[in-house]
Amino acid sequence: MSRFWTDKIASLDPYVPGEQPQDKKYIKLNTNESPYSPSPKALQAMAAEVNESLRLYPDPNCVSLKKSLAQQYQLETNQVFVGNGSDEVLALAFMGYFAAGKPLAFADITYSFYKVYAGLYGIEPKLIPLNDTFDIVARDYQDLDVSGVVVTNPNAPTGKALPLADIEVILQANPDVVVLVDEAYVDFGAQSAVGLVNQYPNLLVVQTMSKSRALAGIRVGYAFGHADLIEGLERLKNSFNSYPIDRIALAGATAAVEDTAYLQEICEKTIATREFTVKALNRLGYELLPSATNFVFATHPSKSAEQIYLSLKEQGILVRYFGNKPRIGEYLRITIGTDKEMQALISALQTL
Ligand SMILES: *Cc1c(COP(=O)(O)O)cnc(C)c1O
Repeated sequence: MSRFWTDKIASLDPYVPGEQPQDKKYIKLNTNESPYSPSPKALQAMAAEVNESLRLYPDPNCVSLKKSLAQQYQLETNQVFVGNGSDEVLALAFMGYFAAGKPLAFADITYSFYKVYAGLYGIEPKLIPLNDTFDIVARDYQDLDVSGVVVTNPNAPTGKALPLADIEVILQANPDVVVLVDEAYVDFGAQSAVGLVNQYPNLLVVQTMSKSRALAGIRVGYAFGHADLIEGLERLKNSFNSYPIDRIALAGATAAVEDTAYLQEICEKTIATREFTVKALNRLGYELLPSATNFVFATHPSKSAEQIYLSLKEQGILVRYFGNKPRIGEYLRITIGTDKEMQALISALQTL
């Protein structure tokens, strides 16, 4: 608190990222980072960019990266927006498209940053409960009087994916507002809505380099949508910060997008490790939701999530515990690391 704080600052309820304790070296299975190195080609491109050109501003329009993304996803360059992490893309989209005086619809259990942005912009959340099996029910998104809809697919922290047909139901039921589909985890096994962008002028698909492309450290996210929606985001971005992507990030992200073979390789490794982890956790009596992501959402019928979380932490393994959240307080979200890290997790759980 400071006497210089405005009422606005005092009213905020900021996002709390997963803990990054520095007291010892942990096996980090709590923030859904990739356990693998970024593409060697991306590393090379970034190293090459560390030179005297850094005295110059980066390309404010990120043309090289947009071109690569557009080519990869079969869109036009003006259908691509780039931001400093998908969190920034989301922040701009919420400001531009959802702060319209009506509530914004999203699931009761989903990425907790949405509520923070809503608070920042004075948007009232209209929470649509997941059903008893933690699924998004598309028909619950009909007849809403809202400024927009956000759907996370696959959802976090549940890990469950929604079929594309259900995304279309939601798009068709909400033709007059923007439907934002956050696909942070889509590369780990869900159907992307990118292919629907030319069909639905109200669709904004948001993705990130942080999870499947192992580049959380350079902060690059992007959105695909109708050229008019993208132009709106550009107007906002250029009214706030013209250069959110630095030269090094731009070089690394462009090379990473072009290295599709590497993306496929590390996603396949993560999926294989996920499947082995699911089997091992099932054998230990854990119940897991089916995951289309790089994490699993697990509960145990007789052991408390808090006890498991604390015991793992003591054994040097961090997982995400949601003790303060309704409905999911007995669940743990466990990021899929390397085979070796998951073996260490399973051994630690066996001692409980
Ligand atoms: C990790 C995550 C993001 C943020 O990703 P960044 O690009 O690192 O900002 C956005 N949405 C969801 C659902 C996420 O899990």
